[in-house]
Amino acid sequence: MKCLSVLGSTGSIGISALDIVRMHPDRFKIKALTAGKNIELFARQIKEFKPALVSVLDEKGALQLSKGLGNILTQNTNGYEKPEILFGESGFCEVASFYKSDTVLLAIVGAAGLKPALAAIQAKKQIALANKETLVMAGELVMAQAQKHGVKILPVDSEHSAIFQSLAGNKIKDLKTIFLTASGGPFRKKPFKEFSDITLEDALNHPTWNMGHKITIDSATLMNKGLEIIEAVHLFDVGPDTIEVLVHPQSIVHSMVGYKDGGIIAQMGQPDMKGAIAYALSEPDRIDLKIGFPDFAKLGSLTFEKPDTKKFPSLLFAFEACKKQGTLPAVMNAANEVAVQAFLEKRIGFLDIFRLISTAMEHQPHIDNPDLSGIIEADQWAREKVQSLI
Ligand code: MG
Repeated sequence: MKCLSVLGSTGSIGISALDIVRMHPDRFKIKALTAGKNIELFARQIKEFKPALVSVLDEKGALQLSKGLGNILTQNTNGYEKPEILFGESGFCEVASFYKSDTVLLAIVGAAGLKPALAAIQAKKQIALANKETLVMAGELVMAQAQKHGVKILPVDSEHSAIFQSLAGNKIKDLKTIFLTASGGPFRKKPFKEFSDITLEDALNHPTWNMGHKITIDSATLMNKGLEIIEAVHLFDVGPDTIEVLVHPQSIVHSMVGYKDGGIIAQMGQPDMKGAIAYALSEPDRIDLKIGFPDFAKLGSLTFEKPDTKKFPSLLFAFEACKKQGTLPAVMNAANEVAVQAFLEKRIGFLDIFRLISTAMEHQPHIDNPDLSGIIEADQWAREKVQSLI
């Protein structure tokens, strides 16, 4: 039985994870949960999964949740009473290091995942990591801490899960190339001269994956792939030159590993995040998820093409950040978060996202080998810089 803390249970990954727990109550038990703003759904999840500890973003949310649970937990709860309710960053860190959990699924979005990730590592929890920003911001520090505390970090990102699965039974030293696949997003075929007309609604319409808003916009700009390049460099301890991004619009090949003998191992499946989430929670076992195989005969062909970095400079930003390291990846990440939020609020246009990130990266006060406070300062600097530019 795995005892889980799920951070971000009302997001797209969190909801899928709870589906898996619901399907396999003999394997998984929820001990602690966190959520952001969707208090109503969170209260229903608490009633169903009966965690001992929960946390929300702020005090207002905690009061709202306490009141909501008072109404909802009146019947059919088999003696279950209210969980302990915390809030804020410290609450998230408490959930990540909760003594009743052995495994932490980190599925909150953005830079907010970093401190809970470090708390989970220090408490020696196994980590299923969906929050790629943690490794982008502070990959060296996080991986060094994980090694020091003997903690396994298992990828939930579908591409990194595919790489991890394609490495099983092989040695990193025999790896030559990681083929990181990308759907290409909704604007793969759109001519660049029409990019200035892209609306929020266009960008939220992803062709193959159903995900949260931040990652859907990141997929439209290909910044999601940029963040994933940096994530892969840290997770698998390889150089950025090892990684080749391939646009694969059908999203059936989730990534591939090429070895020095010319052999390539790919991991394939339907574009459904449950596969990667379940593998991170159950490996080396595979559990029944009631997901069918792709219909290859109907698909007819799987296609691959080079990404267009003139249209999508995010990939160049990421390779640059990866090569320079220091505070640059954290600056790129924070600039992207602020720019994407502004785009979601319709305060800037699509192309402004690239301009803002590029300007922040050009002007950052660079530090090599920053410690945690250096990384957080760089993150703050980039947020303020981009806000002032907006
Ligand atoms: Mg991914």
